[in-house]
Amino acid sequence: MRRSETTLFTSRETGKHENDAIQRVFRAGLVRQFGSGLYGFTPLGERVRQNVIDHVEREMRAAGGRRVSLPQLNYSGIWEESGRWEDFGGEMFTFENRDGKRMCLAPSHEEGIVHLVRGAIRSYEDLPALYYQIDVKHRDDHARGGLLRTKEFTMKDAYSLHVSTDSLDSYYHRMREAYITIFDALDIDFVIAEAEDNLMGGTASEEFLAPAETGTADVRRCSAGECRFGVTDESPRSTLSAGEACPDCGGELVASEGLEIGHIFKLGSRYSEPMGLTVDVTDGTQRDVLMASYGIGIDRLIYALVDQHGDEDGCCWSADGSGTVAPYAASIIPLQYDDELAGVADYLYADCGSGRTLLFDDPDQSIGERFAESDLLGIPWKIVIGNEFRETGEVELETRGGETEYVTVDDVSERI
Ligand SMILES: [Zn+2]
Repeated sequence: MRRSETTLFTSRETGKHENDAIQRVFRAGLVRQFGSGLYGFTPLGERVRQNVIDHVEREMRAAGGRRVSLPQLNYSGIWEESGRWEDFGGEMFTFENRDGKRMCLAPSHEEGIVHLVRGAIRSYEDLPALYYQIDVKHRDDHARGGLLRTKEFTMKDAYSLHVSTDSLDSYYHRMREAYITIFDALDIDFVIAEAEDNLMGGTASEEFLAPAETGTADVRRCSAGECRFGVTDESPRSTLSAGEACPDCGGELVASEGLEIGHIFKLGSRYSEPMGLTVDVTDGTQRDVLMASYGIGIDRLIYALVDQHGDEDGCCWSADGSGTVAPYAASIIPLQYDDELAGVADYLYADCGSGRTLLFDDPDQSIGERFAESDLLGIPWKIVIGNEFRETGEVELETRGGETEYVTVDDVSERI
């Protein structure tokens, strides 16, 4: 993208935001607020959001998931079948349509997936199956901390269906590992805490929590290097407090706030039994399908990345391998966009890919402004075409962290 042809939504104003992370999100212009708990993504914010979605979806496909799309707008029927129409209470947006039918904006899709497959999946031979979608959900939560808690949010939700507990357990384990792969590749620091007593029901669940300056839960986490143990006030072992020994490894537990970025649930027959989702098994009888569900909050992941990796200069995204979710891979920053340097800048823009790079060609911007804007957006590489180029023909590559090296123009594309 040419800087001269785009409107960025960056801001120099620090504003009155609840914490540093949301201030960075706003200064980088990733989102615009539409009211309490409601945000729209700008072109650059949407690039980050889509990169995160792509990253998550890769692992869902690798786990054998098949993508579906369920309606956000539901009639009350399936929710009355499961018994959750009342359970969600004020957290679910409900209303009557013009015909007087009760409807809601789905806060979750366990009922939806049962409705989708009911009658089509009939035999044990159709199972196991894994379905996922990446779409918005609605919950009338009390809005907090920008992207931390919103009324409309993007979620990757997946549902696995099984005929036996062994099959459910092995899929659950596989998805748990997929979640670890996803968060590790994004370089997110996180812990896993057992959870209970939640609106999903079922027999067991685990939350993935990213330690954050402002979070959604109080966490006691293990301080030992590789250990991922954590507890929250909703955990079965909620009485464990900071200073006590980690039950997994003996390391010391420390207190922090945690942001829930993922949650996985063993649901058993919680939905299939009341909603009549059964399969024929070999002895000629029918059995309730066993289910598990798996959620990742896409906006929350963006927030966690900004919180954990950002600094006073702005956002920062991990930049290795498949984990990069930065809006652009590199900024091309000529000292001046004049005859000599503009030619090299345009060459690099074409060579590195105009869809992957942001070319600072706006003559009204100073070099300092170009550097600051690139850092604010968290673009991993700056390709600086300056005095060194005039003398040696080499350009300077500078990482978001400030490490520099000089390479020839033709080596840039390969290097970044
Ligand atoms: Zn531990």
